[in-house]
Amino acid sequence: MADLPIPKPNPGQVLIRVRACAVCRTDLHVVDGELTRPKLPLVPGHEIVGTVERFGEGVDRFKIGDRVGVPWLGWTCGECSYCQSGQENLCDSAKFTGYTLDGGYAECTVADQRYCFPIPESYSDAEAAPLLCAGLIGYRSLVKAGEGKRLGIYGFGAAAHIVAQVARYQKREIYAFTRPGDEEAKRFALGLGAVWAGGSDETPPVKLDAVIIFAPVGELVPRALRTVGKGGTVVCGGIHMSDIPSFPYSILWEERSICSVANLTRRDAEEFMALAPKVPVQTDVQTFPLEEANEALAKLRSGKIQGAAVLVISVETN
Ligand SMILES: [Zn+2]
Ligand SMILES: [Zn+2]
Repeated sequence: MADLPIPKPNPGQVLIRVRACAVCRTDLHVVDGELTRPKLPLVPGHEIVGTVERFGEGVDRFKIGDRVGVPWLGWTCGECSYCQSGQENLCDSAKFTGYTLDGGYAECTVADQRYCFPIPESYSDAEAAPLLCAGLIGYRSLVKAGEGKRLGIYGFGAAAHIVAQVARYQKREIYAFTRPGDEEAKRFALGLGAVWAGGSDETPPVKLDAVIIFAPVGELVPRALRTVGKGGTVVCGGIHMSDIPSFPYSILWEERSICSVANLTRRDAEEFMALAPKVPVQTDVQTFPLEEANEALAKLRSGKIQGAAVLVISVETN
């Protein structure tokens, strides 16, 4: 814990009073040094829900008191070939909240207004926070998985619990792969409507059309390839993964493919924020006071969080 000065919003930025900030696996990769280019010192956290308290010059998207969400993508250049072709998620000089910009494990933060989003009214602050990354990256992963009916998911954490609800709304079947022997995770997945739940070492009864891997475990890539049928896709949804072991070409042949998902675009955020209340996506959250951020990270690291961990910042009343 440290006392920092309240940041000043630059032109185009809003000062946000943070109400809730979800804890993402990416925060763990940052804190554990697996992502090697953080701004230091750094305030982590990129699933921020708060209210606009002040703004810098030229802010026109929000008013004082508006509730906004801030995701991982915090700034893009608008000029590189990726930005110009609708792939701002791949921007050469993008900045990321809670990694190369200070984030939301704090009482206040500043954010570029163009990368802030209104939060659907039906969600509380804590319930909305996981939508900002688990939801957005999960949604992007689901789009990458294509439109096949039989969808496998490895790693049934925060992103999976949201994706499963969207996939069911789209009338797909969910096959959930959990840590071997994790009966509680299996029950959680079945409770969210999975038609099958098993260990990551098990084989489902049918060939799948696509699989999304949220667990940061490279070994799962060849395993997932073996579960998809011809033309099937394996989507790696995380920002970091342990090395992928070698595997025979035969499990990739027949037009199976492997791809990754990087970051998000503002369009993903707009689409998903409109979709979430229609499903309606319900987030299962375990809340912690801001002071217990390290405990929340430790629980996530050891697989003890069901759904999403969220830091809540109590508002001082005078
Ligand atoms: Zn760019
Ligand atoms: Zn995240």
